[in-house]
Amino acid sequence: MNKRSIRDVDVDGKTVLVRVDFNVPMRDGAISDDSRIKAALPTLKLLKDGGAKTVICSHFGRPKGRVVEEMRLGPVLTRLSELLEVAVHNAEGPNGNGPNQAISQLESGEFAILENLRFEPGEEANDADFSKYLASLADIYVNDAFGAAHRAHASTAGIAQHLPAYAGLLMERELEMLSNSLDSSTGPAVAIVGGAKVADKIQVLRNLADKVDTILVGGGMVAAFFEAQGQSGGAAPVSEDDVAAARMLLDSGGANVVLPADVVTAPQFHEDSPSSIHDSSDIPAAELILDIGPRASKEYARIISLVSTIIWNGPMGVFEWPEFANGSATVANAVAVNKKATSVIGGGSTAEIVGALGLVEQISHVSTGGGASLEFLEGKVLPGVAALDDI
Ligand code: AMP
Repeated sequence: MNKRSIRDVDVDGKTVLVRVDFNVPMRDGAISDDSRIKAALPTLKLLKDGGAKTVICSHFGRPKGRVVEEMRLGPVLTRLSELLEVAVHNAEGPNGNGPNQAISQLESGEFAILENLRFEPGEEANDADFSKYLASLADIYVNDAFGAAHRAHASTAGIAQHLPAYAGLLMERELEMLSNSLDSSTGPAVAIVGGAKVADKIQVLRNLADKVDTILVGGGMVAAFFEAQGQSGGAAPVSEDDVAAARMLLDSGGANVVLPADVVTAPQFHEDSPSSIHDSSDIPAAELILDIGPRASKEYARIISLVSTIIWNGPMGVFEWPEFANGSATVANAVAVNKKATSVIGGGSTAEIVGALGLVEQISHVSTGGGASLEFLEGKVLPGVAALDDI
């Protein structure tokens, strides 16, 4: 990584503003998954042990520049205090005089948290004044919010113009693991790409086609690939653009693109719609492709067992419905049992799959950022990373 890391900085007695991604899922007012909070703990503990006065800030939900009571960071503050085993002070704000007062009373090794950054319209607008205001609260800026790094906001980009700006430990690990997965020098590499639509993933497919040996294709996008080959893609509406994109990839001369030999289909896009299995050369025109089939799953698992690098983004089927979840589950297990491979999973729904199957510990890295890891795999520069100080 060519960005400076907080691990190399003396923070003793300094006030450090840390941007984290505490945009945790909530159900009935309670946090239903605290893994994003846990993922920030190494950086927060490093700062505490180094004697910093740490000011934490995050967005939560989409309040669109105004105060929304249900989107206050109170539940996050409570859970964070439990995990850190120290009180975290509520600095309020995120703008105005409140935060200054709370921060001026912090001792070394203590924590305060600002209120939801997106209560302030200047945050998403990357407003120069709000960026300066945030910078005025601290001596050093740390970005550990990989999940928000694809956004150019005041707390992820603007602020870095006014303070020394370092990567946190989570940010560092995300960038290292994602970059390593695209490094072709480490032996045979496979990318597994699925999801709903080819349009969402074409840029990822294009970028990865130059970087890996094999691409295993799954999800709704297989219909576009079948049509590009002159076969039936079933009943799903596939645009000419999708077919053209799929054809371009098949003809690109890059990675070997593997399509499923069989598929699971249903007449309706519905959980209880009766499923059937068909060879890919023989997909009925009235059926929707909702998963890769058992032969394809076995073949994908075999290919996955042979490689030393695995990148996976996007489910093989409609994994939310048990009848169409087998392809994703077989692939997830194949990734988990290949112990000699470095395996990296883009966040979002793919992370959900390995989480639900209890396989997270057996994967080298499960990204905390869905959109951010997708843009990284597309080959884009993430504004929140570009803004950090170079080595
Ligand atoms: P993404 O977040 O882009 O990786 O897409 C995830 C979504 O793709 C999930 O909600 C899946 O249900 C959906 N998906 C996967 N396979 C299919 C398919 N064959 N048809 C329609 N949607 C699919």
